[in-house]
Amino acid sequence: MQISIMMMRAMQLDGPGKPLRPVERPMPEPKPGELLIEVAACGVCRTDLHVADGEIPAHYPIIPGHEIVGRVVEIGSDVEGFALGDRVGVPWLGHSCGVCPYCRSGRENLCDEPEFTGCTRDGGYTTHAVADARYCFPIPTSFSDIAAAPLLCAGLIGWRALRLAGDAQRIGLYGFGAAAHIIAQVAHWQKREVYAFTKPGDVAGQAFARSLGCAWAGASDEMPPLPLDAAILFAPVGALVPAALKAVAKGGRVVCAGIHMSDIPAFPYADLWGERTICSVANLTREDGNSFFEIAERAKIETTTQPFGLEDANAALAAVRNGEVKGAAVIVPGL
Ligand SMILES: [Zn+2]
Ligand SMILES: [Zn+2]
Repeated sequence: MQISIMMMRAMQLDGPGKPLRPVERPMPEPKPGELLIEVAACGVCRTDLHVADGEIPAHYPIIPGHEIVGRVVEIGSDVEGFALGDRVGVPWLGHSCGVCPYCRSGRENLCDEPEFTGCTRDGGYTTHAVADARYCFPIPTSFSDIAAAPLLCAGLIGWRALRLAGDAQRIGLYGFGAAAHIIAQVAHWQKREVYAFTKPGDVAGQAFARSLGCAWAGASDEMPPLPLDAAILFAPVGALVPAALKAVAKGGRVVCAGIHMSDIPAFPYADLWGERTICSVANLTREDGNSFFEIAERAKIETTTQPFGLEDANAALAAVRNGEVKGAAVIVPGL
């Protein structure tokens, strides 16, 4: 008797600093509580570069990608609320323990025993992925598969960062990539004034920011025309922390949204004085996701995307690394 084994295709990272390589693997089977998803699109996040470069701890070999949009093709036992064919999104937080003090106090983003999609469990640079059903989101029908992919991290963690910025009226966004291009639209819709900071000389990026409703766009070494109430740093550049502190008014907050950043240089205490604060954003909670998708739909967010085929994942990563992508890069296995 011949048994035919179903295979999936993926781009695998064998270790830090290595290029991804195409692999075929037997189709994974969903364990209890898991879904098997046919991947339609997977966004490329800067965090994938940190995984590829070994700047954050990952389990190698790993299939990167944590902005997955796909359809349920198999359902493990003990799964509720999902049916075959449902469209779902899989974010960075792939699992949390549910019992640590953080999980028990509504802060699963800080879980002591978390699993991260595309980092400690296989992600979405593949034709098929398994995911813990409890951490999957339904995706509003108004978004296409490719348009929805960047919402899963750039949008969602950007949203958490925006919430941490409080009710700041004048808000600065440092680094105008995938996350900022979404959060600028949300903040503009909330009737805040958005100030976009790009790499010096990135005139195209500044024009893109203005086209999305930003009141001002300039270089990250410039001061804004008015003091900011808060600033969010999406660029992984530690030197921007003291720069942003100088740009915020008394009581202002600087929110560092990246998972990894170069060292922050020393700065005078006077720049922090006046009840200015610096904080970081770690991961996401499922509540962040549910509230963000509702907002994204109401605010009619339009993502700008650049699709890449699955086998072109290395080119997609290079494009993100070199700042060549307008909006977000998205891996599309069916391309
Ligand atoms: Zn926990
Ligand atoms: Zn991400």
